[in-house]
Amino acid sequence: MQNKTISCDCLVVGGGPAGLSAAMAAAGSGAATVLAEYLPSPGRKLLASGSGKCNVTNRLPLEEFARRYLCGLRFVRPALYAFPPETWCGFLSSNGVPVIAPDNFHCFPKSMRAGDVLELLLGRCRALGVRMLTDCRIETLHLRGDAVCGADDGKTRIEAKRIILACGGMGYPALGGHGSGYELARQAGHAVTPPVPALVGLKSAEAWAAELPGVLLPDATTRFGRKLKSRGELIFTHTGVSGPAVLDLSGSVAQELADRGRAVLECSWESREAEEYRERIASWQRNSGTRSLKGLLGTTLPAAFVRALLDTAGIPVERCAAQLRAEERERLVAALSGYPLKICGTDGWNKAMATAGGIPIAEIHAGTLASRIAAGLYLAGEMIDVGAPCGGYNIQWAVSSGRLAGLSAARR
Ligand SMILES: Cc1cc2nc3c(=O)[nH]c(=O)nc-3n(C[C@H](O)[C@H](O)[C@H](O)COP(=O)(O)OP(=O)(O)OC[C@H]3O[C@@H](n4cnc5c(N)ncnc54)[C@H](O)[C@@H]3O)c2cc1C
Repeated sequence: MQNKTISCDCLVVGGGPAGLSAAMAAAGSGAATVLAEYLPSPGRKLLASGSGKCNVTNRLPLEEFARRYLCGLRFVRPALYAFPPETWCGFLSSNGVPVIAPDNFHCFPKSMRAGDVLELLLGRCRALGVRMLTDCRIETLHLRGDAVCGADDGKTRIEAKRIILACGGMGYPALGGHGSGYELARQAGHAVTPPVPALVGLKSAEAWAAELPGVLLPDATTRFGRKLKSRGELIFTHTGVSGPAVLDLSGSVAQELADRGRAVLECSWESREAEEYRERIASWQRNSGTRSLKGLLGTTLPAAFVRALLDTAGIPVERCAAQLRAEERERLVAALSGYPLKICGTDGWNKAMATAGGIPIAEIHAGTLASRIAAGLYLAGEMIDVGAPCGGYNIQWAVSSGRLAGLSAARR
């Protein structure tokens, strides 16, 4: 039963980085702003980000940065150019949260505390007069014709001229990823591309891979389909593979699994092409013929991995380089440079750092982040289907899109 009515210019649903950034921008432009957060406190996922250290963005030049989103440059460009990584880092630094890039690429608060970033955003919202409602799960959007005019959580009715949905995705349900934002978007008439886990470990159907938990390959390249490729560390887990070389492709793999029930990730374990291995093996055969392949491969790859790979390629583990037959050499080259790793699942929503799918970009104006479906409605953050990779791209998108949505909503 509803017992309260609140009125405002702008209602922001969701208190993650996108919602906080939107609320700051709207309130800073003079709109009376209310932020509704389902959990007892805002920014729970932000606090957990980067293992609590919060990888806020990175130093890739802006155009290249924008190209890394799977949805394509055109949609993300207006939000990112209006509030680029440099401006975001400048905002943090000039407000008492200096930013550093220990590896010259990934940016973190110098304190390595996500809490500092959250405190700053919350403090700014408070200072700008944003009214925060916590333990408030918005369940219904109110529409007048095709325009939004309010929302409620079953207890409180919030009348609002504009509404920004910044409800995040479905990863880590305990941190707010329950997907109720998609239902709100549906009520306004939006389609929702079925969400699947992204930035998540993948389960392999191959027994040998599951026997190597903890084994790390520092420079692997994975390919999925014709276009997608990722390079970096690959780590074997109890159920399959994870690490940067896997995480960035995991959302697309999960989509394929949802569509077809199976997927194959092509792995080059040391980021080398087939021809390089052919030359290397030929050189071993000429110069180190009496040495075992296990020992020769073991100079650059972990011993347990080499044993498993030789075994799966059907090559006796103790075979010497000189004894390797031509067909065995080709099998080994293929296993090393383009192993077709069968994937049968993901590690699921509880371990998914992001979501693939969500509100289609075709239903949103890129220049304002206004809905093309319902007047007065705006969308921001991870609930839009942009496909951000690992490395600070998600938080940057959240704050940039939140800011653009907030400014646009206040301006209208
Ligand atoms: C463990 C982990 C580590 C991560 N590390 C990084 C990192 O280092 N760098 C990076 O760039 N990204 C990282 N990410 C991803 C990043 O945290 C998210 O992409 C980002 O938080 C998305 O921001 P958002 O505001 O769109 O959504 P969220 O942060 O998910 O916030 C959405 C909020 O909306 C609330 N909400 C949802 N529905 C409703 C409703 N109906 N009514 C009211 N409130 C609602 C939720 O409770 C939640 O608080 C990480 C994610 C995880 C899980």
